[in-house]
Amino acid sequence: MTLFCKQCNERRLPIVFAKDKAPLWLCEKCENFADGVDTIIRELTKEEKEEMKKKLDDFEKDAVQTGEKLSRRKGVN
Ligand SMILES: [Zn+2]
Repeated sequence: MTLFCKQCNERRLPIVFAKDKAPLWLCEKCENFADGVDTIIRELTKEEKEEMKKKLDDFEKDAVQTGEKLSRRKGVN
């Protein structure tokens, strides 16, 4: 099953590259992509890794800007 990585059993994330195509499933731990039948397609490239990091940073920035409503409850940790 593609939802979990068969190498490390971590959950895979579906990454959509094109709207008309099925997503590829990324394991962030093994840093590779598998298709819908759990065949490993390729490794995550350095560029993609940086891109993802950038997106995450942007997302966090957005969350800060748009957000007092969205702020995490303190003291939960
Ligand atoms: Zn894995």
